[in-house]
Amino acid sequence: MVIRPASGLAEQALASGHWVKLICGASNQDLASIADLCALYACAGVQCVDVAADPAVVRAARIGLSWSLARGASPVWLMVSVSDGSDAHFRKAQFDPLRCPADCSRPCMRVCPADAIPASPGNSGVDEARCYGCGRCLPACPLGLITARDHVLARDALAPLLQELAPDAVEVHTAPGRSLAFAQVIEAIAESKVSLQRVAVSCGLEGHGLTSVDLSRELWQRHGLLRRHGFSPLWQLDGRPMSGDVGRGTARSAVQLWERLRPMAPPGPLQLAGGTNASTWSVLQQSADDAFPAGVAFGGHARSLVQPWLSQALERGQPLIEWQEGWEQALALARALVDPWLQSPCGALPC
Ligand code: SF4
Ligand code: SF4
Repeated sequence: MVIRPASGLAEQALASGHWVKLICGASNQDLASIADLCALYACAGVQCVDVAADPAVVRAARIGLSWSLARGASPVWLMVSVSDGSDAHFRKAQFDPLRCPADCSRPCMRVCPADAIPASPGNSGVDEARCYGCGRCLPACPLGLITARDHVLARDALAPLLQELAPDAVEVHTAPGRSLAFAQVIEAIAESKVSLQRVAVSCGLEGHGLTSVDLSRELWQRHGLLRRHGFSPLWQLDGRPMSGDVGRGTARSAVQLWERLRPMAPPGPLQLAGGTNASTWSVLQQSADDAFPAGVAFGGHARSLVQPWLSQALERGQPLIEWQEGWEQALALARALVDPWLQSPCGALPC
């Protein structure tokens, strides 16, 4: 049974700068971790979890969300991510392990934040379910054996898939110059007739050689299209995609993109993403801008923060939600990340 969250809490959070979303990863299919992550961050107070548009992944996310709901957490929106074209969030790394020299020190394995490349050589290459396409292993192989493969959904498969998944919200990853492809995706979403609280648009500047003015123009085009179909937008500003676990410096990218876009962005909440981590809150406090974004989405950092507990739970042969000691320690870490955003935007008063 799908439990539909009321829109009120999430909408209030968006309106008051308290919005926090967990990004599980648009191509992350590690089902056991996804159920645990969704349960954990829902209990920590996020209002939305964003997962791959994949029936098995959505089922896993709902298991975690139902578990958290039964333990008193607030209802959480389930968002699925799709793309209107080639996008780093929708790719998988791959290599043929039989071509790897036996004495390779496996630098690919050491740089992978998702433990998607096994430590021991043998017949296994990238664990497809765990790989979320961050791309860090690609330049790490001295022999250039690793390649990336896109897995973008066929356009005509989108409407029936959304009917099956019945999410509360959809996020469309787009890029400058793809307004026609974006329009086709929005038409497919409309055709599904799934009742959506929001349609989020994820877009950034990195790698596109454009200015903030160009990006703003692109977002305005998309705004017109969303409104024509009666969708309420949510703008996800992707500062430095998939880098939140790298370090404090990446937090600035997301905040700077918001500072530059804010004066010329179309109507709708603006949410930080791409490079967000535990430093994002303090970086934002130092901003000269006296406005405040609608909130934040945490991806790689939220996952790597609790990864040791997820891995230990796996080694113990049980989900994290069933291992009380590990659960409590992971929940404390998740809460420390989320809590500042659930306070007032000035950081002084609890809600
Ligand atoms: S480093 Fe990134 S792209 Fe490579 S296997 Fe790991 S998650 Fe996938
Ligand atoms: S670094 Fe390259 S050669 Fe070495 S294990 Fe990884 S893919 Fe194989």
